[in-house]
Amino acid sequence: MKGRLLSQGYEESSSEFDADIVIFNTCMVRETAERKIYGKMGQIHKKGKEGVQIALGGCVTQVKGEELYEKYTYVPLIFGSRNKHNIARQLEQISDSQRVIDLSFEDEDLEYALNASRDSEYTAFVEIMKGCNNYCSYCIVPFARGGELSNTPERVLAEIQDLLNRGFREIILLGQNVNSYGIPFTDGIQREIDFPELLKKILKFSDLFRLRFITSHPKDFNDELADIIAEEPKMAHSLHLPVQSGSNEVLKRMNRKYTREEYVGKIVSLREKLPDIALSTDMIFGFPGESEADFLRSVDLLKDIRYKTGFLFKYTPRAGTAAAEYEDNIPVEEKLRRLNYAIDIQKEITREIASDYIGTTQEVLFDGKDKTGKKISGRDTHDMIVVADFPDDYIGKVVRMKIYDGNSFTLFGRPENE
Ligand code: SF4
Repeated sequence: MKGRLLSQGYEESSSEFDADIVIFNTCMVRETAERKIYGKMGQIHKKGKEGVQIALGGCVTQVKGEELYEKYTYVPLIFGSRNKHNIARQLEQISDSQRVIDLSFEDEDLEYALNASRDSEYTAFVEIMKGCNNYCSYCIVPFARGGELSNTPERVLAEIQDLLNRGFREIILLGQNVNSYGIPFTDGIQREIDFPELLKKILKFSDLFRLRFITSHPKDFNDELADIIAEEPKMAHSLHLPVQSGSNEVLKRMNRKYTREEYVGKIVSLREKLPDIALSTDMIFGFPGESEADFLRSVDLLKDIRYKTGFLFKYTPRAGTAAAEYEDNIPVEEKLRRLNYAIDIQKEITREIASDYIGTTQEVLFDGKDKTGKKISGRDTHDMIVVADFPDDYIGKVVRMKIYDGNSFTLFGRPENE
């Protein structure tokens, strides 16, 4: 949206309180994020620039748009999760006397992607598919973002070619479930291409340095994909494979469609092919009916797999999902106890894994300044952040770095031959 508006002559404001237009792009996955939006919107309405126009869009509006349109009469524009590319046109339609609500599902064109405003000049996200058909019982995404739909290979390859022509080196393919790539395509024309085939085509770009993807559903992760990650030198050695629970009972109620044993089997086989693969996961604690034994199975799994990163959450029901009909029988204090216990374990594992890097050499693509703004930072093949004391002209370069220090989140390195 930022790219689209900049290309239409809009300028970015330095603060939301100085802006003529404030756009909220909402996420509905977690309740706390949704609650914060309404408070922040009220704040902008009261303390923002005189006459400020607020636009509200994304997943929350896709599900609750009509209700919010009625309730927040000071918001002149409500748009959905699949028509953000129309933001400039929608903004033009609003006037003193006209409010706009547009929740249509319409797929954006290649031009929208080519105009994207990107934080890095060397690493780019490229959306290959959107939506989800999996209906995990706790998840609002299929309702908020609609069913699976893939961008055509012609469009994906054209976008990547354009990025590489402009000097980008690393591409991260994005999709709710990348393994479903190709069923169906946005233009309704079926093609003989699936996700592994798409990867192979992208890997042929000679200017590409590294390729990653998120997210892969464990039920669909297969040997073919594991072989590509293990054998193709441009594939990053990192994989996000969200398990959600270590208990088969809970996985069943979550409608995840795999067992713990199947999940672990896939990881064991991947690690046989590629021992240094860095894994990350999502896990939910306190799902309805999760017993102490179920909880301990999840903790066990964290310890067994030893993920580099775990995104761990306590369960909160989302209205409209199947799990919201289950009895939310675990008190919030107990959910928090389980969550905090698991977080402590994961933190220790993350710290140990990071400390194992000290003394190793990693190939790092530097793509910007670090948080302090004094050093530069980049990522290695395992998606570890590496910071170095280099001048800015190293940004965009790949350097073999000897890691001499680090903590859970950041490694520090010097050039290998220094
Ligand atoms: S796979 Fe499940 S958790 Fe992931 S987006 Fe789809 S429904 Fe949600």
